Amino acid sequence: MGKAVIAIHGGAGAIARSRLSPEQERAYVDALSAIVTCGQALLAGGGSALDAVTEAVRQLEACPLFNAGVGSVFTHQGRHELDACIMDGRTLEAGAVAGVSRIRYPILAARAVLESSPHLLLIGEGAETFAFLQGLEAVEPAFFSTPARRAQLERAQAAQQTLLDHDGAPLDSDRKFGTVGAVALDLAGNLAAATSTGGMTNKLAGRVGDSPIVGAGCYANNANVAVSCTGTGEVFMRTLAAYDIAALMEYAGLSLQEASERVIGEKIPVLGGSGGAIAIDREGNLAMPFTTEGMYRASARVGDAPSVGIYREGCGEGGHG
Ligand code: ASP
Repeated sequence: MGKAVIAIHGGAGAIARSRLSPEQERAYVDALSAIVTCGQALLAGGGSALDAVTEAVRQLEACPLFNAGVGSVFTHQGRHELDACIMDGRTLEAGAVAGVSRIRYPILAARAVLESSPHLLLIGEGAETFAFLQGLEAVEPAFFSTPARRAQLERAQAAQQTLLDHDGAPLDSDRKFGTVGAVALDLAGNLAAATSTGGMTNKLAGRVGDSPIVGAGCYANNANVAVSCTGTGEVFMRTLAAYDIAALMEYAGLSLQEASERVIGEKIPVLGGSGGAIAIDREGNLAMPFTTEGMYRASARVGDAPSVGIYREGCGEGGHG
């Protein structure tokens, strides 16, 4: 049945088994499993990789468990500023939005930028005006808020105070990551990638991370690989992490596994970053490396049972030392 496959992630971070109750764990597993199964069905029916990653990320945005769409983290000022990006590996076209707070599904806005604008990245109010003119759904900014994220902001702000008092200790020692993403290879052999995020808890207003930046948090090229990243955005931007995986494959002849582990396991940590990525190459090989305690992730090949993982063990295609 071809090599069609989809993988999704719901962010990487300090996900200790002790901190997640069995009910919470079940909720994450159920959500990931339902979303990846839906993407698998779309591909099995001949749907495009671009449609599969769009729909998977839209569903992840709709799920309050993940830091994208509803359930997004708060900025330092107690607002939401969402970023999203999508890339079509067949045409190398991409679309992205950054710093939006009133578009219900930012990934649909990114897709509209790809398909219906002459631009690649629109930000803030301009992106929102464009999205609404395209007929996308508007919501009040408070639509994205959840009590759990508000509590997380309060903890982060308290910790920041302490950390500043402690003379430059790394700000992100207790920072939770979260971003969602999807990569897919369709039956026609096309690759696509999509990434969407609320960013990082307690970020400054106007901060944009790697997620909406082509080549940093999202990249797809039919010639080699589709990648969606999650982690310390500033470091993923400095290393152009997603593109670096593609470049190592293209110019240095590394396999998907080698390239993704080199970037996530070696190059990101050297600069003080951490996180993970999901990646699929044009042969349908899959890599899901991460350096954090866990990464919410799932994958499904057309014709096979889906696999879901959270922690380091329990998912054959994830984890990195
Ligand atoms: N990479 C995202 C950002 O920096 C955050 C994350 O993946 O958790 O905005």
